[in-house]
Amino acid sequence: MYHHVKRLMYTVNVGEPDVRFGQMLLEQFGGANGELAAAMQYSVQGLNCDDPKRKDMLMDIGTEELSHLEVIGSLARMHLKPLKQGQCSKAEADPLIAVVGGGGVSLFNSQGNPWTADYLKVSGQLEVDLRSNIAAEARAKITYERLIDFTDDPGTKEALTFLMTREITHMKAFQAALETMGKGPFEIGELPPDEEYVNKYYNDSTGEGELGEDATGPWNQGGDWELVDSPAFATLASKQ
Ligand code: MN
Ligand code: MN
Repeated sequence: MYHHVKRLMYTVNVGEPDVRFGQMLLEQFGGANGELAAAMQYSVQGLNCDDPKRKDMLMDIGTEELSHLEVIGSLARMHLKPLKQGQCSKAEADPLIAVVGGGGVSLFNSQGNPWTADYLKVSGQLEVDLRSNIAAEARAKITYERLIDFTDDPGTKEALTFLMTREITHMKAFQAALETMGKGPFEIGELPPDEEYVNKYYNDSTGEGELGEDATGPWNQGGDWELVDSPAFATLASKQ
């Protein structure tokens, strides 16, 4: 069950409201990598999770993301406040928020696109979901980093830094939950991959370009790797 506590998870102070920045903040309210997406993704994964310990973690973090949604929504509202003040010049900055939303936040991203459940990654396979969550936290982290870079308001920077920090905390928890599942790093699902193909790296580009020659590295060389040059040409030649 859910319970609302009448305090924000982190106190938000804004000096001078900045409507354009408020619009940018909506990316973390109703955007693809935003707090509602995170809250719903982890909570729905948690509902589906049969491992009681990791289910508990998913529900804890999903619930914290709802608290983040409240913080980012409060922050965005403070920055969007001038849209409530009846000045046409201000309302022109974002007619959707001013005219349709009355100057308040709605579940749209920074470009006014409505939030969608299509943002969520829920696979029903725990190790796959945990990997999706680690990636989701990484995207949320970098979005906060960019937002912090685009504001000079100290109170705003502080609140965003708190939210950014918690995403790294979640990433650590998801990573630990994944590592302790007893599965190897490439062990996904139940079926093993086909040994004939799993270690072949297809070099699907040829020649030299402006960026140089074909690159080699631990992703195609050494260990079990077998480098296969231009497999498409080999297929063509075999058909002639
Ligand atoms: Mn969050
Ligand atoms: Mn998070």
